[in-house]
Amino acid sequence: MLNRSRNVICPTCRSVNSWEGDPAPDEALYCHLCDGFIATHQHYVESLIKGEVARIMARYANPDSSYQLSLLKQVLADRPSADARL
Ligand SMILES: [Zn+2]
Repeated sequence: MLNRSRNVICPTCRSVNSWEGDPAPDEALYCHLCDGFIATHQHYVESLIKGEVARIMARYANPDSSYQLSLLKQVLADRPSADARL
């Protein structure tokens, strides 16, 4: 599920910052240590969603190998004979 920690690493000094409350989409987050601009809340949410989508896609791109193996066994078992030519 979505990472709800709301922690954002500052790209400048690597300190951990976070959103508080319910920020507006165009509200900017500035680093509490170096005052550098980090992101708007809309950009933060978009990058969060992109990261989740990428994670989910990666999971489906690498299906369970034991499932693939059972499919392969099933296909091989369905062969009429060992002499069958493709
Ligand atoms: Zn910083």
